[in-house]
Amino acid sequence: MSEEKNISEENKKSLNFIEVQVEKDLAEGVNGGRIQTRFPPEPNGYLHIGHAKAICMDFGTALKYGGVCNLRFDDTNPIKEDVEYVDSIMEDIRWLGYRWGNVYYASDYFQQLWDFAVALIKADKAYIDEQTSEQIAAQKGTPTKPGTASPFRNRPTEESLELFRKMNTGEIAEGQMVLRAKIDMANPNMHFRDPIIYRVINTPHHRTGTAWKAYPMYDFAHGQSDYFEGVTHSICTLEFEVHRPLYDWFVDELKKIRPEDGAYRPRQFEFNRLNLTYTIMSKRKLLQLVQENLVSGWDDPRMPTICGLRRRGYTPASIHNFIDRIGYTKFEATIDFALLEHSVREDLNRIAPRVSAVLEPIKLTITNYPEGKVEMMEAQNNPEDPSAGTHEIAFTKELYIEQNDFMEEAPKKFFRMTPGQEVRLKNAYIVKCNGCRKDENGKVAEIFAEYDPQTRSGMPESNRKVKGTLHWVSVEHSIPATVRLYDRLFSVENPMENPEIDFRTLINPDSLKILTNCRVEKELEKAAPLAHFQFQRLGYFNLDPDSAAGNLIFNRTVSLKDSWSKIQEKC
Ligand code: ATP
Ligand code: MG
Repeated sequence: MSEEKNISEENKKSLNFIEVQVEKDLAEGVNGGRIQTRFPPEPNGYLHIGHAKAICMDFGTALKYGGVCNLRFDDTNPIKEDVEYVDSIMEDIRWLGYRWGNVYYASDYFQQLWDFAVALIKADKAYIDEQTSEQIAAQKGTPTKPGTASPFRNRPTEESLELFRKMNTGEIAEGQMVLRAKIDMANPNMHFRDPIIYRVINTPHHRTGTAWKAYPMYDFAHGQSDYFEGVTHSICTLEFEVHRPLYDWFVDELKKIRPEDGAYRPRQFEFNRLNLTYTIMSKRKLLQLVQENLVSGWDDPRMPTICGLRRRGYTPASIHNFIDRIGYTKFEATIDFALLEHSVREDLNRIAPRVSAVLEPIKLTITNYPEGKVEMMEAQNNPEDPSAGTHEIAFTKELYIEQNDFMEEAPKKFFRMTPGQEVRLKNAYIVKCNGCRKDENGKVAEIFAEYDPQTRSGMPESNRKVKGTLHWVSVEHSIPATVRLYDRLFSVENPMENPEIDFRTLINPDSLKILTNCRVEKELEKAAPLAHFQFQRLGYFNLDPDSAAGNLIFNRTVSLKDSWSKIQEKC
């Protein structure tokens, strides 16, 4: 009994405030004890990590409480919307592991919304305003100063009905008139000061073509769409909190003309949106980066988009872990990008096979190793997961190691390749550097070392204490590769901080570095697109879909923590 109590208390502690609300509503039988949510993207761009937070909330809550989450495209503005975005949104939600109940479009409700608007006009709760948007804005007032009524506010119902009809026939130009709800020009909530609910747009719609010319505004479409679908919990981000009274007002009006719906009503709940350092979340600005070729596309691995993160090597689990860690609150905050990196590092550490790749190769010749001899060394795929098994890597006389793993005259704490010092070659032998050869410019062109045949990995002598371990590949048994080293997209924590500075000038010039002379172990020939790897000592990488046979391209997902650079910083 007491154990049960502990479990339920433990469970309560880990509930977020929306889940607490849902449990209360379920217990009280609100809306017949049903849970129905929706994820309502506008198909005007690709989804980003901020949307992932909303997706985990909308789909996750429905899943947890045996309800349904529908996908609803909020397609009320044909100017910016496109089917390309519809398709990508579906793909990204599936990739995150969620399944929707139905797919709905706000445009499916255009007729119902129209009928509701007509009902409002007839009830003297809406009117056609022929002023310009500037005039309307000028009359809005301030939160402490009432607004001024439009001269069209009290025009006859019949006139408004006739003009509203014309707004949809093509007889009215864009901007010539709008339909406004007639609520309260003095209300302290500015959203009540006769909000615009319909405007004319002449761009064809990606689903309804030219059938409609009058389009509902977000505030007039969202809550009503929730209502038509039977949504119980309409969960959105905090900026909509001030819209909630208007959401409720429209639902109240709608219920008046639909008494058959009984006690049912949708309710809106708000949580804090995700803001991340070193990136931007505005779809409009992300679109600008794409259109101006400042990145290679929506799925450029530097983008905060879901498809960009996927291409970068993020896993669905890493994104879920990140979202779980940041949680849901009522307070705006900015999350450190390093936390997202931490989440992917943690997941890849668990799942990514360890392989060898040399990004900036220099030749290492084992002077006392027989010419032509090949030894297949056993390499553990994942020390974190013994069930991941092993693979073989060929060891030969001629190898490649990283240029920066060698120093001719090294400081004391340089535990890598330097003349006279022993170093371990991972999974192979302990070797001792005995010099190097330089080219005509005095640049090191080849390193020489001797191996100790008694120290083959697994033999007792291999346990000898040697401070450094280096990764390597065989010259003959490795294949060429290109590696894209990605870093944060912006050089500053908040690219939007100063409105005077164009965010495009703040792009990190080192956000992409391409290395074309890399060598990777042959095993990687078999890798599938997007497969994850840990390149020993370097970081986590995945195979880019641009790869072709003979031209493998790897993206760096995230680096390992670099202990050497930390020591250097301290020096
Ligand atoms: P905009 O409305 O400016 O075009 P948006 O990012 O709000 O951009 P929507 O398609 O309306 O785009 O977003 C769909 C859902 O995702 C909304 O419910 C919205 O609240 C949520 N959402 C958007 N950005 C974030 C974010 N950064 N953090 C959490 N949720 C977000
Ligand atoms: Mg929005």
